Amino acid sequence: MMYVALGSNIGERERYLFGALQEMEAAGLHVTKQSNVYETAPVGYIDQPSFYNMVVEVETSLGAEDALVRLQQVERGLGRERLFKNGPRTIDLDILLYNGEYIQSKHLTVPHPRMHERAFVLAPLAEIAPTLEVNGKTVRQLCDALPESERRDVVRLQSLTSLVGSV
Ligand code: ADP
Ligand code: MG
Repeated sequence: MMYVALGSNIGERERYLFGALQEMEAAGLHVTKQSNVYETAPVGYIDQPSFYNMVVEVETSLGAEDALVRLQQVERGLGRERLFKNGPRTIDLDILLYNGEYIQSKHLTVPHPRMHERAFVLAPLAEIAPTLEVNGKTVRQLCDALPESERRDVVRLQSLTSLVGSV
């Protein structure tokens, strides 16, 4: 199973998230579980709109490198331009985990190197895969270990409807 983190902070953010899910389906990346959407204060360059973040479980016959290529095609299809690091973007699609594998190549590092410290990844991931183990710890444990100051900046949105079931 592959886990993918989605993030958007330009324009109609939930439309970019749900648009990405539909494009992923069309690209052979079948979404089998979906977290709620979370609103997250920006990190790094903070003078920009807040992010909408979510995490999905994906079933695919594609290898990790091919899956990354497809995800990058989906990003470009939704108008992603890379302005500068940690800057605003219509959609960011990151591979968090791929079948429990460790991958280190020119284009891909899995598990995603910064996922352990990011509340906006761990909170939604804990919703759909709390007992999944990463480096000997469960996602729930990693999430609970985050400082309160970080978790406070990640707020679950109640109003957005789930797409799973309708695709
Ligand atoms: P970031 O996600 O760090 O804000 P980008 O989305 O622009 O920045 O990605 C930069 C590069 O990160 C991509 O060109 C991709 O090859 C590389 N990368 C390495 N590991 C991963 C991963 N697990 N998921 C997505 N991209 C990755
Ligand atoms: Mg990325």
